[in-house]
Amino acid sequence: MKAKKRQNKQGKIFIISGPSGSGKTTLLTRLIQDKKIGKLLVKSRSVTTRPKRLGERQGRDYFFVTKDEFRRLLKAKKILEWTKYLGYYYGTPKGPVENRLKKGKHLGLCLDLKGTRVLKKIYPHNTLTVFVLPPSLSVLKTRIEGRCRETNKKEITQRLRLAQRELLAASQFDYCILNQNLRVALRELKKIFIKENSV
Ligand code: ADP
Repeated sequence: MKAKKRQNKQGKIFIISGPSGSGKTTLLTRLIQDKKIGKLLVKSRSVTTRPKRLGERQGRDYFFVTKDEFRRLLKAKKILEWTKYLGYYYGTPKGPVENRLKKGKHLGLCLDLKGTRVLKKIYPHNTLTVFVLPPSLSVLKTRIEGRCRETNKKEITQRLRLAQRELLAASQFDYCILNQNLRVALRELKKIFIKENSV
C-alpha cells in the first residue's frame, strides 16, 4: 500500500518566469546549487535553434539543434511548449519532463509567459509559478547589457520593449519575487520552494 502511494505521487514543476535579464536563470541555478534542494530539483534543458554563446555547452545549458531538427521534434510531438524569440526557436522537450515527474521528482524551468500558460494547462495540479521582477527598467537594461551576450543594440531594445509587456502579467503568477538584491531574492525563492515542497 505504501509503495503504491509513493508511486502515485507526482513530482512538481517549478516555473520561473519574468522578462529577459530579470535574473531567472541566475536564481534557478543558485537555487539548485543549494545542496539539499539540488537533491530534489533539477533544471529542465530547453531545445533551441539559437547559436551557442561563449561558455555554453551542448546538453548542459541547452540542446542546440538546427531549424530542421526542431521542426522534426515538433512534428513528432516531442516538444511540450515552444516559442520563437528574436528569430530563434526555444522548446521544452517532453521526454525528460515526463520521466522526471513519473518518478515523483521535481523539475525547474525558466519559461516565458506563453510557455508558463501551456505547462500550467498540461499539468494543472503540480505546477507552481514564480515571477521575477527587476527593480526597474533601467536596471534591467544595465543587466542585459552587462550580461555581454547581446552585443546588438536593436536586440536589447526589443528585449526591453517585450519586458514592459511581460511585467503586466506578474499578478497571474502564484508568487512574485523582486530581484534587487540577489541574496534576498534567492532567500525568498528558497522559502517558496521549501514551503511548496513540504505541502
Ligand atoms: P534571465 O535568465 O532572466 O534572462 P539572467 O539570470 O541571465 O536573466 O540575469 C541577467 C544578468 O543580470 C546576469 O548577468 C546576472 O548575473 C545579473 N543579475 C541577476 N540578478 C542580479 C541581481 N540581483 N543584482 C545584480 N545583477 C544580477
